[in-house]
Amino acid sequence: MKSFPLFLNLQDRTVAVVGGGEQAAQKVRLMLKTQARIVVIAPVLDPELAGLADVRRIDHVADTSRPDVFRDVALVFIATEDGEDVIAIRDMAKSAGALVNVVDQPDLCDVTTPSIVDRDPVVVAIGTEGTAPVLARQIKTRVEQMLAPNLGSFAALAGRLRGAVADAIPDGGDRRRFWRDAFTGAAWAAHKRGSERQAATLLKAAISDAGKAPARQGTISLIGAGPGARDLLTLRAVERLQEADIIFYDRLVDPDVLELARRDAERVCVGKAVGANQWPQERITALVISAARQGKSVVRLKSGDPCVFGRAGEEAEAARAADIPVEIVPGITAASAAVAGMGQALTQRGRTHHVTLATGTSRPGAEDPNWGDMLRPGGTLALYMAVANAGKVQKSLLTRGVPTTLPVHIVENASTSRERHLTTSLGELSDTVTRDAVQNPAILLIEWPENVAAALCIPA
Ligand code: SAH
Repeated sequence: MKSFPLFLNLQDRTVAVVGGGEQAAQKVRLMLKTQARIVVIAPVLDPELAGLADVRRIDHVADTSRPDVFRDVALVFIATEDGEDVIAIRDMAKSAGALVNVVDQPDLCDVTTPSIVDRDPVVVAIGTEGTAPVLARQIKTRVEQMLAPNLGSFAALAGRLRGAVADAIPDGGDRRRFWRDAFTGAAWAAHKRGSERQAATLLKAAISDAGKAPARQGTISLIGAGPGARDLLTLRAVERLQEADIIFYDRLVDPDVLELARRDAERVCVGKAVGANQWPQERITALVISAARQGKSVVRLKSGDPCVFGRAGEEAEAARAADIPVEIVPGITAASAAVAGMGQALTQRGRTHHVTLATGTSRPGAEDPNWGDMLRPGGTLALYMAVANAGKVQKSLLTRGVPTTLPVHIVENASTSRERHLTTSLGELSDTVTRDAVQNPAILLIEWPENVAAALCIPA
């Protein structure tokens, strides 16, 4: 981001517009939406500006060479149309401490004006850093359609009741839920229909009811964050992220996905790496439960699907044992994302008709799984957490007579901008992993088409 969006408070401040033609008039129209005092600096004003000066909506300074003209001015628009020395005017404005916008010259600007959707006090500003003004207008049109015309007056009503809500409902989840309901519930519906008085009555009644309600119970949502891309979460997952008071997330959850959470939600990385549990499961479970016991909406965010090698079962069980309401929100598992990235399907009619999801890493101290028993003709073996054990997997499969020529797809970072595909054969698997330095997270997909016969078994 070259330009960062901010809202400038112009109450009791002065904005100067240099120029008296149509471009200057455009900026003046924009500034008339604000509570700023507007000074137009130009020898001559066009009829629109002259009319505004006559009714004292703007002040007019005709002497453009006055050195003190920018004193105490917050913002200056330079919109001259007759070849004046723009740089000199800009320097003068800047040395007086003003922010400067030079019309149609983004390189000379401290600030640029966005496309605006105005439901004052709700304002949406859209900027493209000058790259695509047409796109900005298209977005504006869509946002205009999304926001009810009288949203602003409802927001203003909410603003007037903020103090009363703060007095009646303690800070945190309950208050947030109150406001979420206010902007989706009966009061807002009444306001949309044009009944402002009924909306106010309903909101006030809701405030006094909420004040009497018992403290809210905490909840736990075990949520699938998907494979990495932030548009591969379910709508339900996004909704829960927006409501969460605290989010416990795994190391594999992409930072892009966390961006979808409410900005002031607390975030705790519980840093589980494959084979290296810096945070033991018991500690994670205890923390999650203790947060929910404090009445918080807790999100436990796991990569992919929480129920595929995500230990969601244990965490859900612990929540139930502690009498805390728990829900599971499924996500897109790595195997699905990996085949989608390859433009293929996980099952293919006439070729593969079953899929086995297996782990390539066993619990510390436990024996390795027998991967050789997991793959049959007509099947695909999707191996999670298997990069480090690719050699062992290969050996186990070959020993059980799985043909060495079977295709193996390796997909690293599926669905993200770092996604990489490699295709090799079972016989070459281990060498490929080493030679191409396959990095986690990566999934191995070993496919045994139904018409390919088993090789002669090699005794172990
Ligand atoms: N619950 C997750 C799996 C967690 S186990 C899911 O459903 O996807 C962690 C393993 O998942 C990693 O070692 C890797 O094998 C796989 N994985 C997770 N994200 C991945 C991604 N974006 N691309 C490829 N593999 C991924």
